[in-house]
Amino acid sequence: MKFLIAVLVGRFIRFVGKFVNRSSNLPGQVALKICPDLLQRFTLQGKFIAVTGSNGKTTSTNLIAHILRQAGYSVAINTEGSNLAPGVATTLLTSCTLSGKLPQDYLVLEVDERFTPIVFKDLQPDYLVVTNLFRDQVVRNGNPDIVFEKIQSAIPKKTTLILNGNDPITLQLAPENSRVIFGMEKTSRSAETSEFLTQDCKVCPKCFHKLRYNYYHYNHIGDFVCDFCGYRTPEIQYMATDVNFEAGTFVVQGENASVTYKTTFHIINTCGAIAACVTAGVPLAKAIQGAATFQVSKERYDEMDLSGRKAVLMLTKQNPTSLDQSISYTLEQPGEKTVVLHVNNVLYTEKKDISWLYDVTFERLKGKVNKIVCSGSRAYDIAVRLRQGGFTSDEFLVVDQLPQIKEEIKKTSGTIYILAASAFGNEDGILEALK
Ligand SMILES: [Zn+2]
Repeated sequence: MKFLIAVLVGRFIRFVGKFVNRSSNLPGQVALKICPDLLQRFTLQGKFIAVTGSNGKTTSTNLIAHILRQAGYSVAINTEGSNLAPGVATTLLTSCTLSGKLPQDYLVLEVDERFTPIVFKDLQPDYLVVTNLFRDQVVRNGNPDIVFEKIQSAIPKKTTLILNGNDPITLQLAPENSRVIFGMEKTSRSAETSEFLTQDCKVCPKCFHKLRYNYYHYNHIGDFVCDFCGYRTPEIQYMATDVNFEAGTFVVQGENASVTYKTTFHIINTCGAIAACVTAGVPLAKAIQGAATFQVSKERYDEMDLSGRKAVLMLTKQNPTSLDQSISYTLEQPGEKTVVLHVNNVLYTEKKDISWLYDVTFERLKGKVNKIVCSGSRAYDIAVRLRQGGFTSDEFLVVDQLPQIKEEIKKTSGTIYILAASAFGNEDGILEALK
């Protein structure tokens, strides 16, 4: 009875919320108050694929759901940002029958790393994709070791892991569980030495001797070997080979595959999504076909025209690896460029940490871009960081009032790359201000 009331109340709030634009988590929040063991009362008819990790969770979750739908299956999925227990509860109570049955062929859930113990206690995934682990909002989450232990403690024995073969950290998860490995072979963009300040796995996680990398894809993601204990990149079943970034094509399991978002991390994550779907029962050809038509959300990557100039918006998470990746993408593009660094993390978290800016390798932009524009409520913090990194005052400018950004941008030239470190895409209406 309690369960039924929780579901009905949750659905009612969801219904009303659609008109007042309230938080997507509220229905689940209230339902969990009414029925604290709500999550374990649902009965899954299909298979449950969970996705966690520091970067690429949302896109991987959407990609997996896209592949499954394209292959003709019904899917329940949590919407963007609803990856904590209340968000998961909201998804389930709006997707179930009144008796708590989830009739879909697949349940695909993005789960915040810290919430894996809470969610998996009640709802055990058949498959768990772990994209990677990096230092990420350390004030909120703790360091990667702490996050690793949280995920480790959460993994049920029955769960098949889908792991990144190029990430020495997450490969250590639940060694007794069955596992499928995805990754990418050396590409034209791989580097022999790390060019990033953030390298979260310099020593072997097994024996603590120095870890050697044959090549890096980015940060600590690459082909690694410990010369002391032999820990190394394992055999990768879903390996992107023959990667052609310009065309967005690669080969996986001998079949030609393609992506519309042609970056290193997206191709690796696509292999992860294909691995998850095939392991969960989708034919390889269908999985590859689905991945080829997937579009990254416009909230996360968009191209537009701003007063006759091409502009590219890239949403990054507020962690160094994510912003480093957006910088890499910018540098890989041809032509003259202006970079807008938009950082505002005072608006929506209780934590006001900006120390992570000192782990981003902004130095790579030096001499490669026409101008850097610092904007958002952390504009001056970015400026201080750039100064510390050796940038001179003619290399960047600070816009502390967003309405002025359009005028300031006129003083610059080339394609505008807006790197917005935020949780919600077009943060503060920066696009409106620029238009
Ligand atoms: Zn070792």
